[in-house]
Amino acid sequence: MTSPHPEFPPRSILFLSTEVYPYAKTGGLADVSSALPQALRELGHDVRVMMPKYGFIGEKKQKIHLINRLQGIEYKIGDKYVVTNLKSSAILTQKTRIQMYMLESEDYFERMGLYVDLATGKDYPDNDERFLVYALSAFELCKRLLWKPDIIHCNDWQSGLVPALLKELVKNDSFFADTKTVFTIHNLAYQGNFPASTFPKLGLPQDYFTPDGLEFYGKVSYLKAGIAYADAITTVSETYAEEIRTPEFGSGMEGLLTKRKRDLHGILNGIDLLVWDPQKDINIVRPISPEDISGKEACKQDLCFAMGIPYSEGTPVLGMIARLSDQKGFDLLAEIIDNILKSGAQLVILGEGDKKYVDLFSKLQKKHPEQIGIHFGFHDNLAHKIEAGSDIFLMPSAYEPCGLNQMYSMHYGTIPVVRKTGGLADTVIDVESATRRTGPTGFTFEKYDAKAFWKALERAIKAYQTDKKLWHEMQLNGMKRDFSWNRSAVKYAEVYEKVLSRGRKQA
Ligand code: ADP
Repeated sequence: MTSPHPEFPPRSILFLSTEVYPYAKTGGLADVSSALPQALRELGHDVRVMMPKYGFIGEKKQKIHLINRLQGIEYKIGDKYVVTNLKSSAILTQKTRIQMYMLESEDYFERMGLYVDLATGKDYPDNDERFLVYALSAFELCKRLLWKPDIIHCNDWQSGLVPALLKELVKNDSFFADTKTVFTIHNLAYQGNFPASTFPKLGLPQDYFTPDGLEFYGKVSYLKAGIAYADAITTVSETYAEEIRTPEFGSGMEGLLTKRKRDLHGILNGIDLLVWDPQKDINIVRPISPEDISGKEACKQDLCFAMGIPYSEGTPVLGMIARLSDQKGFDLLAEIIDNILKSGAQLVILGEGDKKYVDLFSKLQKKHPEQIGIHFGFHDNLAHKIEAGSDIFLMPSAYEPCGLNQMYSMHYGTIPVVRKTGGLADTVIDVESATRRTGPTGFTFEKYDAKAFWKALERAIKAYQTDKKLWHEMQLNGMKRDFSWNRSAVKYAEVYEKVLSRGRKQA
């Protein structure tokens, strides 16, 4: 472990996230929730992470070690009594050890889906109770272990209730008198909104259920609870921090976010350089480094083989890995598919999600099996192969809070073509706007429309085919960029200090 950052005293931080790599992952939140605690630990903080123990965690194939920590903790939720246990595990790397706590509940978490019932594709109807118990367990964990956190760092709507519940709890319980909350928004569009009938289950006084509190158009919003009651709010890029204060991106929360502007900070995500290391990645067939980028061609061959399309030297392979949702720009991709096919490029897609996109792209794949390769589902190994083996990576997102894949791409020498929004705008530098100091790393477009997307992609394909020097320069610029978590972890530590300095009781 490196020595603690001189500016910050070591703090105790309870990090709440409902998905953490490698235990459970549906998207970028899991990557962040594994890497950020490690980076904070390296700054000298005592960071412990609590997540639910889902049904698949602890299965033999996962090779995860769990031990019993606390047994038989009971909660009354509505008319029901619910018994939970806490298990303990750890994320161990060459550099750090992160203490993990797993909330076990037969009633609520022994399921194969995280938030969605895999059989019906719909949200679990008791998600309000599931994540209420999760929030209550955070307090119970600290009290039973006699561990007073300085900060409870909550992430997304699933832990949004914590700041509200804590505000009420401290009125009668001095244990948490000095504890502050930070709430990070990874995606504002997922809000955890429930009917008003959820409110009585929370055990909060009626004055929390107002438009200034956690009420959102007559519903109980767990996300809004986090935004309204946390001591500080962060989100995952500077541009997204600005965007979410506008009606276009604010999903109805723009008013409250504008009100809390002084407490809202944009901190760009980093990438986990131990998991995403092109020089040591066991998922790819050859190492890739700025000194020797030649391994990419073998990775491309291997990718084509894995995706069932023929390999052909000089043909650009376009990659895309994303939840099949409207957010990710699959409608734009569908609109320009004829142009892509005509250009002779090949396309590989990895994703799971909306049936409308599964149907649409299955059809296209069947019609053009030589040019389109698709894998529907969640597949970590393939995700690494796509980052390494593609020439160009596509992210035409309608909005993108931070986005990790464009950073993985650049780190693996793959050139991103992205819409200029959120974290994509903050990380990818277009050839046309690059300066001598920054240097280009990709291609961007502004307007969310198919024409603009195709114009950017056409520029990329042309550069790949005709300007080897520029291409190589862009690859090196991306690969040499510092995407590590260190800088961002320091920014989180600054936010912690800021809230702790406010109204902290004198010893
Ligand atoms: P989001 O969090 O909105 O889904 P991000 O780009 O921030 O998008 O992060 C997505 C993460 O999930 C990346 O690590 C990406 O590689 C991974 N991912 C997304 N879909 C899949 C999939 N089908 N299989 C494997 N990994 C996936």
